[in-house]
Amino acid sequence: MSESSSDTAAQTADVERRLRERLLDSTGDGIVVADAAGKFVVWNRAATELVGVGAADVPPERWSEFYRLTTPGTDELMPTDSIPLVAALRGSVVHDVDLVCHNRRSGRRVWLNCEARPVHDGSGNVIGGVVVFRDVTERRRVEQELEAFARTISHDLKAPLTGITGFADLMREEYGDTLDEDAREYLDQITDSARRMGELIEGLLDHCRIGQEWHSVTAADLNEAVRSALNALAGDIERTGASVTVQDDLPTVSAHPGGLRQALQNLIGNAIKFVDPGQTPRIEIGCVEDDSSWRIFVKDHGIGIDSKYHGDIFGVFRRLHGRDRYEGTGIGLAIVKKIADLHQGDVRVESEPGRGSTFWLQLPKTDFPDTDADASNDTETGR
Ligand code: ADP
Repeated sequence: MSESSSDTAAQTADVERRLRERLLDSTGDGIVVADAAGKFVVWNRAATELVGVGAADVPPERWSEFYRLTTPGTDELMPTDSIPLVAALRGSVVHDVDLVCHNRRSGRRVWLNCEARPVHDGSGNVIGGVVVFRDVTERRRVEQELEAFARTISHDLKAPLTGITGFADLMREEYGDTLDEDAREYLDQITDSARRMGELIEGLLDHCRIGQEWHSVTAADLNEAVRSALNALAGDIERTGASVTVQDDLPTVSAHPGGLRQALQNLIGNAIKFVDPGQTPRIEIGCVEDDSSWRIFVKDHGIGIDSKYHGDIFGVFRRLHGRDRYEGTGIGLAIVKKIADLHQGDVRVESEPGRGSTFWLQLPKTDFPDTDADASNDTETGR
């Protein structure tokens, strides 16, 4: 009797094990689970295919070398601390982190996008970690090609433009006296259009350049970023007499400091610019915090934006007004959006025509390798 019930239990366990393996092997995503000591307890079929080798009895300090993991954009082995599964074993949640793996079987470089998180016991202790990764080689190749394409086009467009303005200047200098008023006006239009096209190209290049030099986010002092953005806008603030109120003691956030300053500068610059003629800009800057993110706001009392355009304005070259009313290229908010995306964050607007606008830049909270974050908490780590 007892023998047959233990047989049944063994059969059930066997069915469960097979089902679990079948499920794990049915997905195209690599799934690897390690215990707290870094010993692999799950390694599915997709993981073996992507990495080119199965689970090996190798300690975490040797994972980079053994599995040939490098940091994207470099040929350097990924530091142990940066490996997503290692971060998960130390208590961090890792979101959207890329690494390059040199497949041991095919020799191919496989670009992997990873999500990892710790596994806790009932008392909250980390007893292991799980990482899920997928092949994004093709997507990253297309993205890089597109960026390179946009950069080349922008550079190549600048040369003929310099020719146009140069010859218009020459014509004005050498034949100005012989030209009538209409002809001089046309020349001015040519110069103005060429200048405008130059600005658009510069804007596109700026958009392409954003994030190229970034590798990881660090602890960035928001007070410092706001100060630096306001300094860059000092001329506009003085010219318009804008009043700017900044919340005291802003937090330190996880960001790329240059990107954070640039995003703030674009948002504050718009808050100064988009007011009715004769109106003095009034701007408030601050930050609210929840468990998983910081939400930085730039609030103005300017002309506002109809809700039907709230999604549109973050696109490249999207503008709601002619240049006769407000100068600009329509690239500023697209850059803010790209900066938010690169931080795995978001940017949104709350606004009504005539009632001002509040732009919210949301940045996820992450662990910094150089700070004493509590390893038992789930914290986010970004690219
Ligand atoms: P630009 O400022 O060069 O026009 P942006 O990409 O920064 O381009 O902004 C896109 C458009 O969104 C602007 O042309 C404007 O119509 C609208 N906009 C942006 N910020 C504000 C604001 N604070 N108040 C009202 N409208 C705004």
